[in-house]
Amino acid sequence: MMKKQINTSMVELIQGDITAQKVDAIVNAANSRLAGGGGVDGAIHRSGGPAIMEECRRLGGCPTGRAVITTGGTLPAPYVIHAVGPVYRNGDSGEPELLKKAYQCCLAIAEERGIKSMAVPSISTGAYGYPIRDAAQIALTTVIDHLKKESTIERVVFVLFSQHDFEVYRSLLEEIPYHSS
Ligand code: ADP
Repeated sequence: MMKKQINTSMVELIQGDITAQKVDAIVNAANSRLAGGGGVDGAIHRSGGPAIMEECRRLGGCPTGRAVITTGGTLPAPYVIHAVGPVYRNGDSGEPELLKKAYQCCLAIAEERGIKSMAVPSISTGAYGYPIRDAAQIALTTVIDHLKKESTIERVVFVLFSQHDFEVYRSLLEEIPYHSS
């Protein structure tokens, strides 16, 4: 576990299972059809029950680089924000911008809905193949840049599934310079 204060908010890193997090919203690494799948998406639908998929079906889909919000069903978190990160090809097909936009869209939805605490997975770094170090740098700087401005979000918890991913995020968060005013 690691914490860093950014203005009046906290950025935290933990290793664990995002479906167990007691926060206002957890973020899903979804696909653009919102069709469910493996990885964190599968875990969220398994733990949250069919109400989440019913809402996803009604929404119909979500473009890459964007996010949509649904109920959390039977999860401890009342909401799931489904973010669609890019499939990694060569890094030269707009992947960094799309990954950044996916995180920014989650943060914008959280602000709109008055969400105070959110748990976030490492989007695109599983089945979608984004190199973990590059993706972690984008994830952390996008969240920190957001929290440096005026924000009503109090806690952003990155939930890393593997010890290795946790260590990558931890070493980057230690290095990232920031200003607390
Ligand atoms: P993507 O298709 O966006 O790459 P994946 O779900 O395949 O999404 O992987 C994204 C990250 O989520 C990976 O680092 C994977 O290890 C992680 N992950 C898988 N299950 C969970 C879980 N229950 N909680 C948190 N992270 C998870």
